[in-house]
Formats: sequence, structure tokens, C-alpha cells
Amino acid sequence: MNSHNTLVRAAGFRAAFVLLAAGCAWAHDETPAVSAPNSSGARTNSGAIQSQPGHNAWNAGQPAEDWWSEIKREHGHVGPWNVLGWRIGQAALRELKSQWGMHELEVVCHVPLQTPFTCLADGLAVGTGNSLGRLDLRLAEVLNYQQSFVAVRRKDLKGDVLEFRPQAAYLKSLTGQPVGKLEALSRECIKKPEDELFTIRRFSP
Ligand SMILES: [Zn+2]
Repeated sequence: MNSHNTLVRAAGFRAAFVLLAAGCAWAHDETPAVSAPNSSGARTNSGAIQSQPGHNAWNAGQPAEDWWSEIKREHGHVGPWNVLGWRIGQAALRELKSQWGMHELEVVCHVPLQTPFTCLADGLAVGTGNSLGRLDLRLAEVLNYQQSFVAVRRKDLKGDVLEFRPQAAYLKSLTGQPVGKLEALSRECIKKPEDELFTIRRFSP
């Protein structure tokens, strides 16, 4: 797996994300193993009621009518890394037969821990309804932006693990662009065919 080479030790996000990334079965880290709470709740807070995926009271949220404005509201601007994340999120829901806000998927966003690369995560959040607080959107670090990818699987483990890897040529086209081109690049990312933006690889159980 590519993620064998992934460092999960976060620089700016260290305190928050070492815990979160430890929930990824493939993540390697020197800190003591701390797993994310499992569905039975059988950990230290055993009396807690945990949210569940699917059509139920835990998932009453609705997708924004205008996803572009939603990214702008949450993130402060809309850039191509946001839109790329939104596109990958849409593809992940489709490929793994889920719907926005059902929290049926786990999404691990592997990027260098600096903007604009981490902007991918906010696009994924708006695109899927997953979130940091629900532990189903996590960040893991890679050291070069060209290594960036997003791994997704269903929480019920039905089906494959999917890897969405941005096309090298597309990422290269985003580098060194002035802020004045953010919107044009973002609009372009909406229209591009998926296979010009990213590849999808499947890893069977
Ligand atoms: Zn951004």
C-alpha cells in the first residue's frame, strides 16, 4: 500500500491528528496505539451513545443547496484544491454507493500539512458531509504534494478500498498560480472530466 510510506505525524496539527490518524489501520507512528472508538463503544467511555451511519437521527443534515458558497463560507475562499476535494468526494459517494451526509464512508486525505494542499480536506467535507468531528474525515501527511491521494472505504467494510490519486499533470498546473486566478482555476476544475483530474484504484479486501 502506498500509505505504508505515509507519515501521520502532523506538524501544525500534531495534537489533533496523531490521535485521528491512529485510527487508520496502515498508519505507522511511534506513539502508543490509540484506536478510534469502535462501533460497540467498548472503550473507556463505555456509557457513551455513539452516532451511527445511515438514514437515522444522527444524520439529519442536508447538503448545501449551493456547494460553492458552502465551501466559501466554511473555508474563506474557493480554490482548485477545494473543488478537487469536492469532485473526489462526489466520486467516492458514487463509487461506494453512498449518499451525502450518511456518514457511511471513511475518508483519509493524504496531503502535505500546509495550504493549499490541506484545502482538499474542506472540499471533501462539503462534498461528502463527512467531518473531522465525526472521525470519518482524517488527515494524514505526505511530504511532497505529488504524493497526495485520498483513500476511502465503507465503514461496513463492504467493497473495496478506493484510492483517488490526482493526476500529476493537473497538480502541476496548479502550482505557481497567482491568487487572482483562484476562481478561474476552480471553475475549470468543476468542468474537467474526472480522468483528467484523478485516477481511481481499487484494493480488494
Ligand atoms: Zn484554500
